[in-house]
Amino acid sequence: MKIEGSCHCGAITVAGEADPERVTICHCTDCQTGTGSAFRVSIPVPGTAFRMTGKPTSYLKTTADSGNPRVQAFCPNCGTPIYSTSPGEGVQPSYMVRVGILAQRDQLAPKRQNWFRSARPWVTAMDAIPKNEKQG
Ligand SMILES: [Zn+2]
Ligand SMILES: [Zn+2]
Repeated sequence: MKIEGSCHCGAITVAGEADPERVTICHCTDCQTGTGSAFRVSIPVPGTAFRMTGKPTSYLKTTADSGNPRVQAFCPNCGTPIYSTSPGEGVQPSYMVRVGILAQRDQLAPKRQNWFRSARPWVTAMDAIPKNEKQG
């Protein structure tokens, strides 16, 4: 399906083609730190189908939990995480685009959870946490 989105301030936009069956939650501690939250939700977009306007700042994490160096790209103005990819010049084979920036996020429910051994223990019990429809 076609996907498109932008960061919080609009300086960076992305578009592409992605398979909604491949939406993944990552509970690794790098994703917890990189999002400032409990987990990250991403979808792979092939490099050949990935389009972007604006220029993200990137940070090379050389000691990722996976053992593979990863480039983390985010908006230099508003800090929104945009994607991660492999290091190197030019178009990379795949971009893990952050689902929270996409207009189609309602249709992009996660299909698997990785690094569950690092998951915060409460993520499986969120339905029991009292809810407010708006700010409490
Ligand atoms: Zn921005
Ligand atoms: Zn992760």
